[in-house]
Amino acid sequence: MDLNDIRENYKNFDDYKIEKIASEEAGSLRPEVLDILKAEIKKRNLNLNLIDSVDSQTKELTESEFNEYCAILKNHPCPKCKSKTQKINATMVGQVISMIIMTNYEKSLKIACSNCLDEMHSKANTKSALLGWWGIPWGPIHTIRSFMFNSSMKKNNRTEKPNEILSSFIVSNIGIMEKAKTEPEKLTEFINRTNNAI
Ligand SMILES: [Zn+2]
Repeated sequence: MDLNDIRENYKNFDDYKIEKIASEEAGSLRPEVLDILKAEIKKRNLNLNLIDSVDSQTKELTESEFNEYCAILKNHPCPKCKSKTQKINATMVGQVISMIIMTNYEKSLKIACSNCLDEMHSKANTKSALLGWWGIPWGPIHTIRSFMFNSSMKKNNRTEKPNEILSSFIVSNIGIMEKAKTEPEKLTEFINRTNNAI
């Protein structure tokens, strides 16, 4: 596709799509395409913070910027219970579901306050115990593995310093973190989408 085709495509995208590319996908675009994207944002009078969001994804992240994004995320209201009293953290939750012929063991990323993360681990364990164990032969094996996995993950639900999962969420979603400075509700929406992905 040449640049004119790309420009034409961007013209036809709706605002939502343009915002999504600007805050989530800009890091993977060529410089010429970034210019097209920025021009489109200006032309449509979209929130100019989107341009910062694009720029933040295309330059190297400094330690102080990382710490700033960390503080924004950790102090964000919990997207699940809306509470602000507990800091946000991130974890992986393992869950097992056995179907007629196969057993499915999935690990998924979850971001919420410590209490909600604890609850997600417990709920996943209950679900695995109900729906996972009976698939032979992998049901019981994976169910026990997922219990062990969740109990070791749970230990990091209340860490003061950002744990590895939270840090890697920030690094992979710089555009969203930058946008959260002026539109915190977009971060809530993005976390909800991440939490509901599986
Ligand atoms: Zn919560």
